[in-house]
This record gives sequence, C-alpha cells and structure tokens, in this order.
Amino acid sequence: MLLKSLEINGFKSFAKKGLLEFSTPITSIVGPNGSGKSNAAEAFRFVLGEQSIKSLRGKKGEDLIFNGAAEAGRVNRASVKLTFDNSSKFLPIDFDEVTLERIVHRDSVNEYLINGSAVRLKDISELLASAHIGSSGHHIISQGEADRILNANTKEKREMIEDALGLKIYQYKKVESERKLEKTKENIEKVESLRRELAPHIRFLRKQVEKIEKARLLREELVVLYKEYLKRESSYITNEKERIHKEMHAPKIELTELEKNLAEAKAVLEASKTESTKTFELMSLEQALREVDTNKNELLREAGRIEGEVHSIERLIRREKEALMREDTKTVYLRDVEVVAKNIEGLALEANQVSGIEEIRSLVQKIKEELRAFVEHNKGVVTTDEVASYENDLNELQTKRNELEDKIVSIKSDEISFREKIVFVKSEIDKDKEGSMEAEKNIFKIMARQNELFAVVSSLRGEENRLALEDEELKRELEEARVLGGREAVSYDEYEIKNINGEVLSFETILSENRTVQHDRRRNIEKIKIRLEEMGGGGSEEIMKEFRDAEERDSFLAKEVIDLEQSSISLASLIKELEDKLNLEFRQGIDKINLAFTEFFKKMFGGGHAGLRVVREIKRKRGELSEIEENFEGDTEEEYEEGIEIDVSHPFKKVKSLMMLSGGERALTSIALLFAISQVNPPPFIILDETDAALDEANSRKYGDMIESLAKYSQLILITHNRETMSRAGVLYGVTMGAGGASKLLSIKFDEAVAVAK
Ligand code: ATP
Repeated sequence: MLLKSLEINGFKSFAKKGLLEFSTPITSIVGPNGSGKSNAAEAFRFVLGEQSIKSLRGKKGEDLIFNGAAEAGRVNRASVKLTFDNSSKFLPIDFDEVTLERIVHRDSVNEYLINGSAVRLKDISELLASAHIGSSGHHIISQGEADRILNANTKEKREMIEDALGLKIYQYKKVESERKLEKTKENIEKVESLRRELAPHIRFLRKQVEKIEKARLLREELVVLYKEYLKRESSYITNEKERIHKEMHAPKIELTELEKNLAEAKAVLEASKTESTKTFELMSLEQALREVDTNKNELLREAGRIEGEVHSIERLIRREKEALMREDTKTVYLRDVEVVAKNIEGLALEANQVSGIEEIRSLVQKIKEELRAFVEHNKGVVTTDEVASYENDLNELQTKRNELEDKIVSIKSDEISFREKIVFVKSEIDKDKEGSMEAEKNIFKIMARQNELFAVVSSLRGEENRLALEDEELKRELEEARVLGGREAVSYDEYEIKNINGEVLSFETILSENRTVQHDRRRNIEKIKIRLEEMGGGGSEEIMKEFRDAEERDSFLAKEVIDLEQSSISLASLIKELEDKLNLEFRQGIDKINLAFTEFFKKMFGGGHAGLRVVREIKRKRGELSEIEENFEGDTEEEYEEGIEIDVSHPFKKVKSLMMLSGGERALTSIALLFAISQVNPPPFIILDETDAALDEANSRKYGDMIESLAKYSQLILITHNRETMSRAGVLYGVTMGAGGASKLLSIKFDEAVAVAK
C-alpha cells in the first residue's frame, strides 16, 4: 500500500489527534451526518496543498482550525500529516517513507514539511505531480461533486485530464521554463543595457589607455635615450675628472716645490736685509768722514790763516824793525788807508751831490784835513813796544799753529781709518747686494713660474667647477630620469651602447664623440619630457585598472549574454520539447482514456459510447475564450487554447448532450470517466466522498464492481452511507461526533458500520 496513514490534529472538527491507517486497497469511512467525514476528505486536500479555502468550505485560513466546542477549547493550529510508503520510490525522493505535513496557524501562515523539513508549497506540488497526485484534485471527489468534471469548462477539463495523465509535471516544467525564458530575456536585455551603458565609458577609457600606451612607448624611448645619455654623460664626467686630476697633479707638485723654493729664496732675501744696517754703517762712516774732512779743512784753513798771520806778523816785525831804522820807508796799515779812502770817497760822493761851490770847497777842505790827519797820525807812531806786541802775537799764533798741526795729524789719521772702514763696509755691501740680487731674481723666476702654474691650476679649477656643475646637472637629471623612467632609466652602469651594427662601443669610442651630439641627445630628451608632460601621466595605473576592469566586466557581460542566449535557446527548445511531449502524451492519453471511458460507460449504461474530444478555443481578448474551433489542423496565427469536451451517446435514449442526463446518469457518466482516467494513469489513491449517493441499488452494485477493479490500481478511500460500497471495503472507520462537538475516529466492523451509517 502506497498510502499508509493520515493524521489529523486541530483540523476543522478534529480537535484532537486522530489517525487513519490505510492498510487495505479499499478503506471506508462511515458516520452520521455532520460527524466530520468530509472534513477528513478535506484533510487530504489540505495536506496536498489546496490553496482555495473556499473549496475546503471555509472563508479564511482560520476556518480550517478547530474553533472550539462545548467540551474542547479552540486550538491555534491545524496540522495534517499524510504518510506514504516510498520503498518503491514512486515519489522521486530518496526516503522509504515520506510524510507530508501542512500546518496552518490562526494568522493564516502556512507551513509545509517533507519528513519534518520545512519546504515550499512548490516542492510539495512538484513532488506530488510526479506521482500523478495533481493539485486539480481529480482523484479526490468531494461530496456533491461527483459530476464536477462534467460541469467544468473545457479548459478545466483539460487541466484535470492533464493532471490525471501525469502531465502536470511537464506543465510545471514548461511554465517554469517559460518563466526562466522570460527571466533570461529580461536578463539579456538588462545585461545588454548594462553593456550599452558601459560602452561609452569603455570608449573613453580606451582613448585614455591609448594615450597612456603612447606615453608608455614614449617613456620606453626615453628610458633608452636616458640610458645612453646618462652612460655617456657619466663616462664623460668620470673621464674629465680623471683628466683634470691628472693634469692638476704635476702643477700641484711643482707648486709645492716652488713654494718651498720661494720660501728659501725669501729667506735669502730676508737675510740680505742686513745690508741696510751695513749701508747705514756706511752712511755713518761717510758722514763721519765728511765731518772729519770738514774739521780737517777748517783746521787746515785755520792753520793757513795762522800761517799767514805768522808770516804777516813776522813781516811786520821785520818791517818795524826796518822802519825803526828808516822813516821814509815807514809803512802804514792798509786798513788805516782803507779807512781814510773810504772817508774820502764818502766826502767826494757828497761833493758830487751838492751844487754850491762853497759846499764843495768845504768838502774839499774836509778831504785835506782827513789826509793831513792820516799823515800826521802815521808820522813817528811805531815803537819797540809794538814789535814786542807783535812777537807776542806771533808766539801765540805759533802755539796755536802747533796745536792745529797736532789736531790735523790726528784728524788725518781718523780720516784714513774712516776711509779704510768705508772701503771695507762697501765691499761687504757689494757682496750682500750680489746675494740678494740672486735671491730676487730667483724669487721673480719662481713667482713667474708660480703664476704660470696658477693660471694652469686656475684653468683646471675652472674646468673642475664646470664639471661639478655638469655633475650636479647629471644628478638632477638622474633624479628626473628615475621619476619619469623608473629604475630602468637610471640603471645605465651595465648598459652597453652599441653602434648600428650592434657592436658594443668601447669607453674610448664613447668619449671620442663630439659633445654637441650629446647636447643634441639632451635636447631630444627634453622634447620627449615636454611631450610626456603634455600627455599627463597622472593616475595612469588607475585608468589602466579601470579600463581592464571595465573590459573584463564588458567581456564578462558579453559572455553572460552569450550564456544567456544559449540558455534562452536551450530553454526555448526545452519548452518546445515539453510542448511536443505534452501534446503527444496528451493525445495518446486521451485515446487511452476514450477506450476505457466507453468501456466503463457501456458497463454502466449497458451500451452506448462516450468520449473526450479536444477543442481549440481562439483567444479573442486577453484571458477570454470566445470561439470554439471544432476542426483545426496545424498551427494558426492566432493565440488559442486547447480544451476538452465530453461526448456521450446513451444506448437507448437519444441523448447527445450531458445536460440531458438525469442526476444519477450524470453521476454514472462522471464515475465512468473518473474511473477511465484513473485506470489509464492510476493515482496512488482515490478519495470518493459520497460519489455513490445518487445511485440506486443496481447501479450501486455496478459501482461496487468498478470500485473493486479500480482498487487493483489505486488505493481507495470511500466516504459513504452506501451498504454495498461499505461491503467492498477491507477496513472501516467510523467518525462520530458526540455532545463535545469534536469528531472522533474509530475502527469498526462492517455490521457496526452499517449501523453507524444508518
Ligand atoms: P454528512 O454525512 O452530512 O455529509 P459529514 O460527516 O461529512 O456529514 P462534515 O461536513 O465533515 O460532516 O462535518 C461538518 C461538521 O464539522 C459540522 O458539524 C461543523 O460544525 C464542523 N466543523 C466544520 N468546521 C469546524 C471548525 N473549524 N471547528 C469545529 N467544528 C467544525
């Protein structure tokens, strides 16, 4: 038995837990009116996922929960558990026993569980559909609904048939696939729209990236140029430094040597400075000599004068002595004569100036007197005293003369001594002069050489300074190169400069290049730097990353579109496959049902025939079917829906329409169809709630027979008051409702059942 049990707890009139076990093919539930039998049937619908509260005879979810009665308080939740034996795996789930459970709470919240695990309603529906237990409930015929299938419209009939044929699973799959297809198309549109939005950004970024790429290439070019430039510049500077260093070496050494020589020469010159003391000495000696000379000359003059006086006095003495002896030879002193002459000359001059003769005579008289006085004076003046006086003077003079002569001798000796000293000092000075001249010459020579060397050194220093500037410039350039070209640009040490033949240039060849070429190279670098600056390399990493990200995103989206289109194609083909399968199985199913339907119909009515007919209804308006096409072939342009019509042909009556059948006949036709459907594709169980209510005794028997043959394929749960029907059941359950107002379940015997049913 696939169906094992039904547990009802709090559902409708079942206030407390009640259990129905289905151990035989046919189980009958019997009980008086209003005891809760139909509630038990509804419990099946409920647990199988029925969503229409109305079809469960309620208005809202709360109506499904035991609402309280005289002896029992109301409960807050209703739960129904349906247990299947799944050892045959008729339910596609890996459990030997499957319990479906549905719980409804007073706030209308529903819970669905499979073997105690919460699931979605959809999971339950799909699980059941795969076992032909569809939601249309074709296998649960409620009370008064025996002819439900006959009353349903064509579309509902089709749904019931599809459900019964187990095609619902395909329908689900188809709907699901269509939904997925719709979603996929939406996603394609979304993704394409994203790509459209992204495109201008990518275009913009691509341009930026192209610029960055150009800048990168330019930077690469710059790196190569830099390497060669820096290599050459550094080689040049190194070489120049060495050259200057070398060229500086000899002058420096020579200058040190010269400095030493100069110091020595200066020392010599310094030593010759003593010359001045000698010169001074010479000058003093010469001065002294001059003084000696002057003194000597004075002494000599004095000596001469004294000599003269001596001679004069000696002559005077002689003359006096002679005069003493003779008057006429008497001599007068010249000075006396000069005095007289001078007086006469004065008087004569006066005479020349006067005009009066008297005055002249007076003056002449005076001149006569003067002359007379002179003559008178000199007559007889000389005495021997005078001679004595003269001799006395002479003696004095001779003494003086002797003294002078002594002095002259002494001074002459001094003169000689000075002259000798002067000669000596002069020779000394000459000797010194010779030495200092030599030193001076030497100093001049040294200084001239020093100046020459200073010029050389200064020129080299100039070169050194220029080189230092170039070195500074190189360092600055290195820094700039590092910034613009990274480490690569400044790693010129190992860089090999090659000629156009790819031969590595030697250090000498590198240096032999004209500096103007290097300057041109520098200018070229400057130009590239300017171009790079104009391009502006800021944020290139971010742009590249953004571009890569955007491209990645775009190609991801493109791939996604392809994937989505692919899945859209597969979904479309799946839908087509499902439609084909549905169509095929539907039509094959209809054929099979028609065979069984006619057979059951004939059994019920003792002849005649019945059948299902597929009709196509054209959709004129949205959701509205307006026209039924009876004969259709192939696809039409218009949207249509297929439905089912039922044709019956009564064996004895001219009845063509279902409308013309009696209540019992309608019930029989309905049962025949239901049984036909169930036989073609047997559901695990069928619940028939008083389907036999309208049948007379003869038909009840036929019904009973058909039930028995149907029970070979499906488990039957029959709610009935019919004795005949009860008699076919293996197990009977009685439902009672006491004064408490709650239904109770109990297993009973046939006789009890007959009694209860009555
Ligand atoms: P009949 O033989 O006449 O068809 P039945 O045995 O099928 O009767 P049901 O229709 O199953 O009877 O039961 C109806 C009873 O269930 C009513 O008495 C009704 O009051 C009771 N009932 C329905 N819903 C609830 C509820 N939510 N709480 C309590 N009792 C309820």
